[in-house]
Amino acid sequence: MSNEEHRRGLMMALSSPSGAGKSTLAALLIARDPVMTLSISATTRPARPGEVDGREYHFMSRDVFERMAGNGEFLEWALVFDHFYGTPRAPVEGALASGRDVLFDVDWQGARALRAAAPEDVVGVFILPPSHEELERRLKARAQDDPAVIARRMARSADEISHWVEYDYVLVNRYVEETFARLELILGAERLKRHRQIGLSKFAANLASG
Ligand code: 5GP
Repeated sequence: MSNEEHRRGLMMALSSPSGAGKSTLAALLIARDPVMTLSISATTRPARPGEVDGREYHFMSRDVFERMAGNGEFLEWALVFDHFYGTPRAPVEGALASGRDVLFDVDWQGARALRAAAPEDVVGVFILPPSHEELERRLKARAQDDPAVIARRMARSADEISHWVEYDYVLVNRYVEETFARLELILGAERLKRHRQIGLSKFAANLASG
């Protein structure tokens, strides 16, 4: 890689209320973008049926988690519903240093923690559903029409949506392909930010000195 192409990777924090299409967009990004990798969190909660260690999460005991947290091996961590969750530091730092980008599928609290840990590296993107009706329709489809479950999910969605102003970019997800194209525009521009183009100073100095 030549000097002018050498860049520092970025951390894309992708958040949305459930039912806005975030998981689909995250999966598309990972499948289609060769330099984007997904951050796999560590957790002390037991694996659910169908979950695979190292794919959804790195499942670990509380002892191991606490030792890692004590050693500073997490970029951020939190206690959520009685279980610990954390972002392993080493894979993220390795990726960024070698010019690869890392995607984080996180809620507003996770995004806020990442921003606090690495303000220069994080690009926050918030996905909104196209309308209240559409959000309700998608949540109903998932909850199989149990009114109490739907009401709880709508309340949680409203809470998540209230944090949209904390993000750098906000996309209304009407059509997945259109939203995906916009995500790629964001990535394209953010990758060109001066502070990420760490090979430029040498390149520019060479240009100037001839
Ligand atoms: P679940 O157990 O349902 O997969 O996730 C429960 C909650 O933990 C979600 O709100 C999710 O955003 C949060 N979570 C998952 N991974 C992390 C992480 O690495 N850091 C933080 N702070 N929260 C996480």
